Amino acid sequence: MFSHRKQLQLWMSVCLTVALLTGCVSQPIDYAPVILKRSQMLMGTLVFVTAVAGHEAAAQQAAQSAFAEIRRLEELLSTWISTSELSKVNDAAGRAPAPISADTLYVLARSLEVANLTDGGFNVVIGPAVRMWNVTERTDVPTKAELESVRPLVDLSALLLDTTKGTAFLARSGMQVDVGGIAKGFAADRAVEAMRTAGAIAGVVALSGDIKTFGRMPDGQAFLFGLQHPRREGELLGSIELRDEAISTAGDYERYFERDGIRYHHILDPTTLEPARDCQSVTVIAKEGIMADGLDTGIFVMGARRGMELIERLPDVEGVIVDREGQVHVSSGLKGRLQLTDSVSK
Ligand code: ADP
Ligand code: MG
Repeated sequence: MFSHRKQLQLWMSVCLTVALLTGCVSQPIDYAPVILKRSQMLMGTLVFVTAVAGHEAAAQQAAQSAFAEIRRLEELLSTWISTSELSKVNDAAGRAPAPISADTLYVLARSLEVANLTDGGFNVVIGPAVRMWNVTERTDVPTKAELESVRPLVDLSALLLDTTKGTAFLARSGMQVDVGGIAKGFAADRAVEAMRTAGAIAGVVALSGDIKTFGRMPDGQAFLFGLQHPRREGELLGSIELRDEAISTAGDYERYFERDGIRYHHILDPTTLEPARDCQSVTVIAKEGIMADGLDTGIFVMGARRGMELIERLPDVEGVIVDREGQVHVSSGLKGRLQLTDSVSK
C-alpha cells in the first residue's frame, strides 16, 4: 500500500509525464488551433506570414506583430529610406561616426562575422560597386577602369564599429553600407520572436527567399518548402521539411541582365568587383535567419567547393549548392532530408 504522500507523489509524476508527452504544460490549447495567413509589402518584397495560435485573436496579433517588427527594422536598415540609421551612416561617410541603435549595430557586427567566415566573400560595403552595375536597369558592362575607381570604397576594414559608444563610421567619403544580403534573414528572426511573444505556437515568416519557421502545424506536420530550380523557371530542384530553422537562397536568376550571352547578376565578388561566377544558386539552412542569409551570399562568392567545405565545418548549418555546370551538391546533414526532384542531377 502507498501512503497518501506517496500516492500524491505518484499522481504528480504521472500527471507531469502525460503533460510533457502531450506538450500541454507549455502550450495550453483548449480548442482547435487557428492557422492564419497574411501578406504585406515590406523591405521591397512581398512578406508572407503564417501564424498558428490557440485562437483567432492571438493569431491576428502574432501576424500583426511580425509585420510591425519588420517595418521597424526596415526603417532602421533600408538605404532607400533617407532617414534610416544606415542612410545617416552613409551620409556621414568620411566625416564622422554616426550613432546607431543596438539592432543596427548587431546586424553590422554579425555581417563582419559572416565576412570573416566567408574569407571576405560577404561584404556589406560592396554598395558602390553594386550601384555601378545596377543590374536591374543596365544593359552594358562597366569598364575595368570604372570598377577600379570604386575599389578603395569597398574596403571592409574602413567600416569601424564602436560598440561602447554605439556608432558606425565609414572612414572614406563615398563609402556605402548595404545590408541587402543579410537584413531579410535578420528580419525573419526578429519577426518570429515577435510572433512567439504575441502568443503564436508555430509559424512561418517568408521575405521572398528568406524564410524562418518555428514549431509545427497543428496536425503535427513540419513546414514543407520547395527549392527553386536555378535554370528551369517554375520548377523545383527539391523539397525539404523545416522545424525551428531558417532557409535562405541566393541565386543568379532573379536580378540579372544578359550581354553577348553572359549573365550579369546582382551578387558581386569583392575581389573582381564583377558578378560571382562559380554558382547558380546557394541555399543555406541554419538555426538563425541572419546566418542563413549572410552565408548564402558569401558562399555564392566563395564558390561551390570552398563553400561546401565551410558548410560542413559549421555546426547547425546545412546547404545545397548548384554549381556553374548545374551540378547539385548537398551537405552531409541534408542527405535523407532533402527530396531532390527526379530529373535533377547530383
Ligand atoms: P536577395 O534575396 O535580395 O536576392 P541576397 O541574399 O541574394 O538577397 O543578396 C543580394 C544582395 O546583397 C544584392 O542585391 C546586394 O545588395 C548585396 N550584395 C551583392 N554582392 C554582395 C556581397 N559580395 N556581399 C554582401 N552583399 C552583397
Ligand atoms: Mg543573403
